[in-house]
Amino acid sequence: MMQGRRSPIWHPFTQHALQGEMTRIVGGEGAYLYTDDGRRIIDAISSWWVVTHGHCHPHIVRAIQEQAGKLNQVIFAGYTHDPAEDVAAQILKFTPSGLDYVFFSDSGSTSVEVALKMALGYWLNIGRRRTNVAVMQHSYHGDTIGAMSVGARGVFSTAYEPLLFDVSVIPFPAVGCEQRTLDVLESVCRTKSPACFIVEPLILGAGGMLMYPARVLKEMKRICESLDVLFVADEVMTGWGRTGTLFACEQANVTPDIACYSKGLTGGALPLAVTLCRADIFKAHYSTDRRRTFFHSSSYTANPIACAAARANLELWQDGELRERVRSIANLQERAIAPLRIDSRFDNVRQTGTVTALELKSADSGYLASIGPSLQRLFSDRNLLLRPLGNTIYVMPPYCTTAADLDEIYAGIREAADLLA
Ligand SMILES: *Cc1c(COP(=O)(O)O)cnc(C)c1O
Repeated sequence: MMQGRRSPIWHPFTQHALQGEMTRIVGGEGAYLYTDDGRRIIDAISSWWVVTHGHCHPHIVRAIQEQAGKLNQVIFAGYTHDPAEDVAAQILKFTPSGLDYVFFSDSGSTSVEVALKMALGYWLNIGRRRTNVAVMQHSYHGDTIGAMSVGARGVFSTAYEPLLFDVSVIPFPAVGCEQRTLDVLESVCRTKSPACFIVEPLILGAGGMLMYPARVLKEMKRICESLDVLFVADEVMTGWGRTGTLFACEQANVTPDIACYSKGLTGGALPLAVTLCRADIFKAHYSTDRRRTFFHSSSYTANPIACAAARANLELWQDGELRERVRSIANLQERAIAPLRIDSRFDNVRQTGTVTALELKSADSGYLASIGPSLQRLFSDRNLLLRPLGNTIYVMPPYCTTAADLDEIYAGIREAADLLA
């Protein structure tokens, strides 16, 4: 199949030689996307995990419209503005105490780059240079070179391998192997003295929606703390209610030394990210010696319109009703996935908060499993936006998704099993 309409656009994570015609979207509202040929699609993965409240949430739309007419961009070195100040102040109220400073950037990948630079800058500036980074197996932290370096290596990174820096890899804490994870982490912290350990708390997203319990997260933090290794939580995906709490770290009662948030930060309306850190990491850069400056910026750092969207999102989170809705989505998901737990065509049926995932048993597995594209076509024919990771199907819906929408989504997944398992 070739693209019917010739377009000069090179799309992300897309093999154009195999891609059918792109679905053209003309509008979005709540959990639905609307196509130019009049179809309504249920967005079961929140448009790549960003649209937390649903498309075009009126409160966020209004905030964007108002800000666009007031101040839509200003240099952020030497200048500041209310939307950014309000977002920083509010986000510190929501995050565990111990995080004190907020650095703005534009994407999850960049927030990770910033975290790594903060960690290395910290050690250099306190006179104890460290350069190693510890990471968890199967992790994903973004697609820029630094973020790829701390993420899983594979077919995605083969071409760029020579540019990626070496890291120490901790095994994923699969059921029954948790102690080994902790032992290896402890040994790496002792022998390699990494600058930091970066990890996705509770759910490893792009690595296959792999889930592990809060007590392992808590133990990993304890080990890092006792051995003086900075603990970096990449909450780019897990933040904003996904795991059932506002942030995943809450469930382990853990305060990271550095934390990255993006995706749902604006409710999915505009690109924005923040990296939060402890006061002493900021203070290590605080000096009359200009060489200690934190040398990082992007042109659109803390763009006022994106910040206004984030501020509106934070306002929504102040409302207890939204947290209730998250609980209700988690409950609906639990009910919807229950029958699949005893269906022999599925493996490893799992849930953390509002996210469910399972493997469809098939001859091959992994991201390039041949079943992947067939699944995607089948879902697309049913007007469902699901994008399996190989034979791993997951559902990460916006919080406005109804029980009836979920019924349709899971009917699609069962049909996939009927036809393909
Ligand atoms: C999506 C993601 C990123 C990268 O975010 P982008 O905005 O796509 O650059 C980083 N870390 C995690 C855990 C993610 O899920």
